[in-house]
Amino acid sequence: MNFNSLVLKIASRCNLNCSYCFMYNLGDTTYKKQPKFMSSKIVDAVLEKTKRYIQRYKKKEFSFTFHGGEPLLASKEFYTTFMHKFKKLQEELKEVSFFFDIQTNGVLIDEEWIDLFKEFNISPGISVDGTPKAHDMFRVDHKGKGSYAEVFKGVSLLKKEMNYASIACVINTKEKPQEIYDSFKKMKVDHVNFLIPDYTHDNFPFDNSKTEIADWLVELFDIWIDDTERFKIPIFIGLINNFLRLGKESLNESTVLVIETNGEIEAIDSLKACGHGFTKTGLNIANNELEDIENTSLGKLYFNDFNTKLCTQCRECPLKEVCKGGRLVHRYSREKGFNNPSVYCRDLVTFIAHVQNYFIKCFPEMHAKENVEPIDVNEIIEYLKTIDIGVSKEKELESFSVENKVL
Ligand code: SF4
Ligand code: SF4
Repeated sequence: MNFNSLVLKIASRCNLNCSYCFMYNLGDTTYKKQPKFMSSKIVDAVLEKTKRYIQRYKKKEFSFTFHGGEPLLASKEFYTTFMHKFKKLQEELKEVSFFFDIQTNGVLIDEEWIDLFKEFNISPGISVDGTPKAHDMFRVDHKGKGSYAEVFKGVSLLKKEMNYASIACVINTKEKPQEIYDSFKKMKVDHVNFLIPDYTHDNFPFDNSKTEIADWLVELFDIWIDDTERFKIPIFIGLINNFLRLGKESLNESTVLVIETNGEIEAIDSLKACGHGFTKTGLNIANNELEDIENTSLGKLYFNDFNTKLCTQCRECPLKEVCKGGRLVHRYSREKGFNNPSVYCRDLVTFIAHVQNYFIKCFPEMHAKENVEPIDVNEIIEYLKTIDIGVSKEKELESFSVENKVL
């Protein structure tokens, strides 16, 4: 088993009601059956099963992400108790390095929360959509009021007390990259994880013949690379490392497991965009081992096939080592399961080409030494069009399809 990270859904409700939220507003309504907060019985099961998993697979590192809904809706006592229970686990697994982070909407952050993060070495990440206008368009409370002002306060406090602010931002192409960039500079953030919106082939809202996301990312990249005091942007750093042979990071997500508030073991949240109940496996941490997910159809696909089984077009694509077919959710269609190129294929070619060509221009010696060629976007797109993706054998299609359990 290759996962080494658990996302714990500590709270199943949220104090915000963002219009694009995959938990509440993208068709999956299973949260309504969840308890509001994770119980101590489930916490005990999580720690016990994690211990067994680490011992069985001899893991050296393991990370927990506190998530929700909004994880700060749970009490501070919840986290204090969790971390005290965790200490016993750490004593039994002294050689293992553990990491903790928490993904919050930032509205409730105050000095007491920051003291708790510091005490237990928990790294906070805050979701912000760039400018006040962009943020308040989507990230609203249950009365429709924008949350930017409160979040700005939370980020400033983090910066002051922890000297580090890490942000997750869903790309909104309606907003200008320069304005979004300037807004994050004003916030003095250190790290912004720009996220390509989660759509499948069934609900893709962009014009397929255009490259709206790539054009936006290219503009942002050019602003970022020219700024000598730039903050970190993982989507750019991953690609640069790849070209400079500094690491194996790519545009793909890492493999993680999710533990729902009631203990259900699931695959990543982004797959909720595939439909109601899609991430359900029928497993629960109270009765199952973590690795049991390997025997479910969804788990098999996610943990075994994700990087190895690509559709015909991706397998023939000259950019497949960098792109790896894009993210799993972006490949999905009701008709063919995950046996598709990314719905953002044209964007990925355009964006990867821009970054690679930039670096070849800056480091011509790399071009010669590493045999890295400039990319002609039109040439690749025309070549990809010649690959017939409809000829996949039935057997191959079968291996990509996932039983869509509607619970
Ligand atoms: S803050 Fe997160 S969980 Fe809450 S509504 Fe917004 S996207 Fe959903
Ligand atoms: S660029 Fe398109 S065809 Fe190539 S690997 Fe990525 S999604 Fe597949």
